[in-house]
Amino acid sequence: MAKKVKVRFAPSPTGDLHVGNIRTALFDWAYARHTGGTFLFRIEDTDTTRVTDEYIQAAIDTLKWLGLNWDEGPEVGGDNGPYLQSQRLDIYAKWAQTFLDQKDAYHCYCTPAELEATREAQRAANVAPGYDGKCRDLTAEQVAAYKAEGREAVVRMRMPDGSTTFVDEIRGEVAFDHKFVPDFVLVRADGSPLYTLAVAVDDVLMKVTHVLRGEDLLSSTPRQIRVYQAMGVKTDDYPVFAHLPFVMGQDNAKLSKRNGEVSIAWYREQGYLPEAICNYLALLGWSPGDDRENITMKELCELFTVEKVHSSPARFDMKKLEAINGDKIRALTLDEFLKWSLPFLTKAGIITGTDSEVALVKAALPIIQERIVKLDEVPQMLKFLFVKKFEVEAESVSKIADQVSKDVLKRSLKELEPLATWNHDSIEAALRASLIEEMGLKPRIAFTAIRIATTGSTISPPLFESMELLGKEVSLARIAASLTL
Ligand code: GLU
Repeated sequence: MAKKVKVRFAPSPTGDLHVGNIRTALFDWAYARHTGGTFLFRIEDTDTTRVTDEYIQAAIDTLKWLGLNWDEGPEVGGDNGPYLQSQRLDIYAKWAQTFLDQKDAYHCYCTPAELEATREAQRAANVAPGYDGKCRDLTAEQVAAYKAEGREAVVRMRMPDGSTTFVDEIRGEVAFDHKFVPDFVLVRADGSPLYTLAVAVDDVLMKVTHVLRGEDLLSSTPRQIRVYQAMGVKTDDYPVFAHLPFVMGQDNAKLSKRNGEVSIAWYREQGYLPEAICNYLALLGWSPGDDRENITMKELCELFTVEKVHSSPARFDMKKLEAINGDKIRALTLDEFLKWSLPFLTKAGIITGTDSEVALVKAALPIIQERIVKLDEVPQMLKFLFVKKFEVEAESVSKIADQVSKDVLKRSLKELEPLATWNHDSIEAALRASLIEEMGLKPRIAFTAIRIATTGSTISPPLFESMELLGKEVSLARIAASLTL
């Protein structure tokens, strides 16, 4: 019987999780869900100089916000915890000692200056850089001499001659000649473990069956396999590796702060919906097998297989993400749209959140749902309904100062005042009959003046619906006030 799949996402939160991390997390999650397996979330925080508690919490919150729920990991627990590597240091120390006892690893007393001199010499001789094995077979006397000098040792893994070959589910067979995989450090002189030790030990102890992760980690795989061997893991029990293609920026260079916004926190603040981010990231390096671009989380789980992950790099396209976000916003129910919009309105200081404000927002949202691409447009769109002291925005004042605009505003006052029923149909009928048919004006000219007068801006939701929401009294008062500008 095939082993139950267990996939892990194991970030080192040295900053906010970025697009590449989340694409990996999403594929890990989708693969676990597709196979009915387990999604494990582990925090790799052994580099205490760069990982902070704040970034760890942000990583946890981001995954939750995206809906990438995990079955084992922080907050959730599980049989293989703790899931923060900083809480597992004794485990790594024990394994490092075992490797020393087995002679798979050795103490290395080389100083940073000596290592640098070796690298320098290798560069000069044009040979692959890396540790030269100087401390591999020290005698007891040599060790005693180094200790007497006060030198401190790191623990280094011995790489045997030969090569490591494994099958990557995306790339096929990959081979690494050990000439290019020198003996590597497992434990620093201060006793802290390095990534390669901790990641491999945890993948084994946490019974991970599949490692789907970024291509940047491909070259660390032979070192991890070396650790599995030293742990006595049988070849058949190694996890399956699948290295996901790089995500490139618009300019085809690797995506970074320089050529694209990378932090997921930024997208959240801009008003991208988690489903849109996940939908878009799912298409970065994977396709469902047809050219559809709108995918729900449920469909992703049903359809996701590693075979359909591409081996070539994917290119990040902000415009496509925006289009998908617009689609997802349009697909929200009114209550969902309200739930997503309220925080943006309160944060922008447009509303405080009273019941009457919320009711007005709810009434207004349907008229903007078709028009916005990101939630951060909601405050600008609805601000006109809530401002205490109404003002026409500076750049639009001159647009209603001409005689035609004044005539439009005067006439509209005259036509709107007697309206007994105030709704978008009656407003539109009255204004079209007078301004367009009788005065012969172009709709754009006539309605732009009224739009500015009532909402203060040229950018607003549909005009007649906006005026209906504003109410007759406020609409007419604003038009009258605009005539004095
Ligand atoms: N913690 C590693 C990183 O964030 C990834 C570990 C892995 O997936 O093997 O770069």
